[in-house]
Amino acid sequence: MQSAPTPNPPNPEFPGIATVSPLAAALSCACPRCGQGRLYSGMLTVAGTCTVCGLALHRHDSGDGPAVFVILVLGGIVVGLALWLEARLAPPVWLHAVLWPPIILGGAIAMLRLLKALLIALQFRHRAHDYEDGADQGPHHV
Ligand SMILES: [Zn+2]
Repeated sequence: MQSAPTPNPPNPEFPGIATVSPLAAALSCACPRCGQGRLYSGMLTVAGTCTVCGLALHRHDSGDGPAVFVILVLGGIVVGLALWLEARLAPPVWLHAVLWPPIILGGAIAMLRLLKALLIALQFRHRAHDYEDGADQGPHHV
């Protein structure tokens, strides 16, 4: 019987730094290669390079993926809660207008940070060549 591969094999380029799992990197908003550098330089701005291992983070290509998940999941949750609140308590309209915008804004930013980090980590795990030197000129980026 063949043994299963280890979930976090050592990184050949950085032997002293284990490759982190995509979920762990996403939850900590850390670099997908070393798991130590910060992924974001701003609230939702991805850093140019990792300050610890030098990974070219600017080569990520998460696209609109995180936004789609946030719209579908957070939109469904908020609409469900708003309908439940209206059916249960029938509050005045101004309460809806005051209650939901901060929940939507805060939830969207929190979910976008997490999902963007997860998609970047998954891209690094499955398409690491996108982060290599010269990847910007590759035929799949035309
Ligand atoms: Zn790093």
